[in-house]
Amino acid sequence: MALEDLYREVILDHYRNPRNKGRLDDPEASADGVNPLCGDEISIDLKLEGDRVSAVAIDGQGCSISQASASMMSEAVKGKTLDEIADLAAGFRRMMSLDEADGPGLDPDRPGAVLGDIEALQGVRRYPVRIKCAGLGWNTLLEALSSLKP
Ligand code: ZN
Repeated sequence: MALEDLYREVILDHYRNPRNKGRLDDPEASADGVNPLCGDEISIDLKLEGDRVSAVAIDGQGCSISQASASMMSEAVKGKTLDEIADLAAGFRRMMSLDEADGPGLDPDRPGAVLGDIEALQGVRRYPVRIKCAGLGWNTLLEALSSLKP
């Protein structure tokens, strides 16, 4: 199977079977994100134990890229510390960076380089309008986490 086909399968699987779908009772952090260019919506609820995300739930509607990306993000951050999540978010931003559209995208020597399923989204870099779709879940996550800070 060609890599692009594999990536498409991974994205469609997350779109059709979103992980951690729903809402949490009494979340410690929440945020709602909208991508008006595409009509994508994502809501995120989080619970923490110390500095570790112990539970995450996502809800929303929109295009396959936005919903699949949020599903992948929810899997990636569950059980991670806030520092690890910051590294993952940085790795995602690096992967999606327009500046690196012709480059390797991921730097294996830097934290957050191993993104798992999320790497299936790197083909989206070729479609600049879709980068906002892919980034919506991450932006909403960071907004939820920023609400935790005193
Ligand atoms: Zn979209």
